[in-house]
Amino acid sequence: MKNLVLGFFAVLLFSSAAFAQSYFRDGKPITEAQYKASNLNTEAMNLMRANENEKAIAVLKEALSFDPQLSQAHHNLGLAYSKVGHTQEAIDELRTAVELNPQSAMSLLTLGGAYQTSGRLQEALETYKETLKRFPDFPDKAEVKGLISKLKEEADRQKSAGGQSEADTYFRQVTTEVPVRWCSNSLPVRIFITDGQGVPNFRPEFIDIAKNSFLDWVNAAQGRISITFVSDPRNADIKVVWTADPKELPNPAEAGFADFTYRRHCLLKGTIKLLTVPMDRTQTVSTNQLRKACLHEVGHILGLRGHSPDPADVMFYSLPIEDKWLMPSKRDAETIVRLYSEPNPESLSK
Ligand SMILES: [Zn+2]
Repeated sequence: MKNLVLGFFAVLLFSSAAFAQSYFRDGKPITEAQYKASNLNTEAMNLMRANENEKAIAVLKEALSFDPQLSQAHHNLGLAYSKVGHTQEAIDELRTAVELNPQSAMSLLTLGGAYQTSGRLQEALETYKETLKRFPDFPDKAEVKGLISKLKEEADRQKSAGGQSEADTYFRQVTTEVPVRWCSNSLPVRIFITDGQGVPNFRPEFIDIAKNSFLDWVNAAQGRISITFVSDPRNADIKVVWTADPKELPNPAEAGFADFTYRRHCLLKGTIKLLTVPMDRTQTVSTNQLRKACLHEVGHILGLRGHSPDPADVMFYSLPIEDKWLMPSKRDAETIVRLYSEPNPESLSK
């Protein structure tokens, strides 16, 4: 039972309303430069909502040239950097936001998310714990607790996999429990994808995303796995189902969930459950986000039980914030090839 951990990332921060003419913010007089910075921050938020992150970065830098102390602009700049994959710059900006405004639980959480998605597990854990300690009444406490427990699990798993990994694969990390795979007598693996009828936020394109996630892993495995899509769930080995209710997943900090049964080293049956809502429940899940969750859970159901410690891999434990179409990495491909290359599954346990 493996799953994908989300980060706290969706929240943009407004600077408090600023008024022209005599320039007030929160009832206090502000300078014209501060007023301009506030307006630019608002403009950047609209760009980010439209996923125009590069443009937003330029506008936020301009905002900060007018008011370097505007914590919300540092926060949003950190988010924008995350979304284009500049993780170190993101962390720097979020740390500045936290320093300038220690009262912002959201900036602290987002910093935790930036550590998490760049693979800095211990710093992520410390930051989330600090958030709970400093903001005991935080409304999304359950999600933060969920994150902490998932990341602790991940830290333990990394420890049990030992320090170093094989050069080109994360085979050791995904086989810390009993190694499993779809054995030759169950190929082609029969997959049934439910139509999502009646599930809030479900979109028909999700079905192709799910299909392509399987096909991309099959390609990555270079012919060692074969699959077929079936139209009758009774004939399926793997079912893909959809839900808009985070409570249907074991942990509120998850985007999806893969459950399976196996005998000895051979997988027998599996179910993938995918969430049609992101962690910020007021938003809708984007095509790229759903693709990431889907590709990750398919990796689990094909036998990659654990997680990669490298943020560049599909099987990294955390959903990448970068908003792009994810493909299996070279290490993902070599790991699945390795798992399916053993002449017989019994030798996997050696
Ligand atoms: Zn996972």
